Amino acid sequence: MKRDLRAAPITADDAIIARALESASIPTLMMSLIHVTGDASLLRGPIRPQRAVMGEVHGGLPEAERAEVRRQALAALRAYRDRGCKLPPPPELKTVREMMSFMVGEPVPDEYAPMMLEEMELDGEDQRALRWDGVPEERRSAFHVLVVGAGMSGILAAIRLEQAGIPYTVVEKNPAVGGTWYENRYPGCRVDVANHFYSYSFEPNEWVEFFSQRNELFAYFERVVRDYGVRDKIRFEREVTSASWDEDAGRWDVRLRTRDGGEERISANAIVSAVGQLNRPSIPDLPGRERFAGPSFHSAEWDDAQELRGKNVAVIGTGASAFQLVPEVAKQAAKLSVFQRSPAWMTPNAIYHAKVSDGKKWLLRHLPAYARWYRFLLFWPGSDGLLPSLVIDPSWPHSERSVNALNEEQRVMFTAYLASQVGDRPELLAKVTPSYPPFGKRMLQDNGSWLGALKRENVDLVTCGIREITKGGVTDNDGVHHPADVIVFATGFHTNKFLWPMRVTGRGGAVLSERWGDDPRAYLGITVPDFPNLFCLYGPSTNLAHAGSIIFHSECQVRYAMSCLKGLLESGKRTMDCRRDVHDAFNAKLDETLARMVWSHPGMNSWYKNAKGRVIATSPWRLVDYWGWTRDANLADYRLS
Ligand code: NAP
Repeated sequence: MKRDLRAAPITADDAIIARALESASIPTLMMSLIHVTGDASLLRGPIRPQRAVMGEVHGGLPEAERAEVRRQALAALRAYRDRGCKLPPPPELKTVREMMSFMVGEPVPDEYAPMMLEEMELDGEDQRALRWDGVPEERRSAFHVLVVGAGMSGILAAIRLEQAGIPYTVVEKNPAVGGTWYENRYPGCRVDVANHFYSYSFEPNEWVEFFSQRNELFAYFERVVRDYGVRDKIRFEREVTSASWDEDAGRWDVRLRTRDGGEERISANAIVSAVGQLNRPSIPDLPGRERFAGPSFHSAEWDDAQELRGKNVAVIGTGASAFQLVPEVAKQAAKLSVFQRSPAWMTPNAIYHAKVSDGKKWLLRHLPAYARWYRFLLFWPGSDGLLPSLVIDPSWPHSERSVNALNEEQRVMFTAYLASQVGDRPELLAKVTPSYPPFGKRMLQDNGSWLGALKRENVDLVTCGIREITKGGVTDNDGVHHPADVIVFATGFHTNKFLWPMRVTGRGGAVLSERWGDDPRAYLGITVPDFPNLFCLYGPSTNLAHAGSIIFHSECQVRYAMSCLKGLLESGKRTMDCRRDVHDAFNAKLDETLARMVWSHPGMNSWYKNAKGRVIATSPWRLVDYWGWTRDANLADYRLS
């Protein structure tokens, strides 16, 4: 099914249009007007958006200019409505490129334009879906792909396989789709990447909030599997335990465990692993843990049965999950003790919990191309623009606290935010101010809810470390006992063990987990020598920590995997195995690049690093490079047989 990305016709009266325009993002509105009128003279007019910055959607225009654009828009939309919503021919590519640079107030280099055009789908064409007409039907139907996982990236793989006409099965360990958005249901759980961008490029949604809560995201993924007709191919409550490459058959022999403990087998020509990086809960082995008398659980295994109202609660960890659940738990608990091992940098985000107003929804629904340009406006300022601030400058004199002059500016800005929120509590300010460079660990967001929660009278931020867990609480390293009826472990995931706990055995008996140890590597984060016809989504070194959304990255990876399969089927061969020299050369470049990035800074630990301090999770590449490398597979990178 292809979603109709065209705008709904306008039938509203002038007053309704005018009211909706009050909430318009002005640069986005200007772009839509060019589609509505066919007149691009706005691009040469006096009203010009300034350089786009993340979180600001008006191009820094003064109110008088905003009002003028709204005035012009009302007239143009009225005329558009009155002529039956007929659109002039769409702007030519040359004009669209001009529009891009105009909208974000800086030149959008030529190398980015194709990527952004693909992302925006202005013509309503899903440009990331490959054309399969050239591959004989009988070759496609004789091939079977197993997708492991029905989360965000597994669903995407299923959609592409469905469109390609390649038989496939998706297996999912949970009873529902959504992966992380199914499993995480702690109070306050929501995405912290803007949703009008954190959504499939080909499948917009009418979001209730800018940063949706878990239920809305889960509903989105449920709807997508239904709308794209892939639900019937998903076999729920089945977990892959092992996959072994059968050289003679040129197929994977896969074993599954069903929820009732039974075993099933599937034979597949190829496997797409879509198991995620952040879903195997890690609970630290703190002394005395087994002695605790009350309930304790991990943030990703939230126990709804536990009433927290009026209880003493301990939350261990202060990462992204804790940032969201602590403000909610603080409202209920009698006493909340939060155990912080290291503080996180955070960016202020005023609309983090805001609803999308009716006016904005109306604009997104009715204004031609408005939603697509809005997506571009969200994407661009966070695109590769941030990357230079994350590269270590070897001559930078303050290397203990920042990695270059731009990073120092960020540090000053984020420190000022902390001071603005908790400056009246110097002791708390000292506790929440990181000493390492910004962006070294996962950046978090705050609209006052996290820091506000820490200031509450019933909340105590403990930073001296945990000595032991007792029957009735947690004793810190200063010997202070913090009584707790319930302990929540917001302590993250087994992030160093990609594809774990599956046992994947490739050519010549190579076992993936042994090959990798805690130093996993893949070509483009996707393919591994000696593991033919295996494609990893969100594999090693593909987490995005500088820009984009993980959905954007998955779209790149799925396209690459599909392009590999297409090449393979076109060639008439059965198997493809990444060349070792290609893999090694890629990884040498990867190591060299990562060593210069802020995440490698020795001043902090994070889930991006392994025990030796090598960054294994995060991608250092410019989005535009990764997008380019994954667009079309080069079969010369593989041994085909
Ligand atoms: P996390 O970022 O790995 O945080 C784990 C926390 O537990 C850290 O504060 C860590 O301290 C602490 N910790 C771990 N072991 C400990 C120990 N032995 N003693 C004391 N403290 C300990 O895990 P997370 O918060 O679940 O987030 C993981 C990732 O999931 C995020 O980075 C993000 O990518 C994703 N996520 C996203 C969202 C969102 O979109 N809104 C929400 C939740 C999660 P240290 O910092 O000192 O290691």
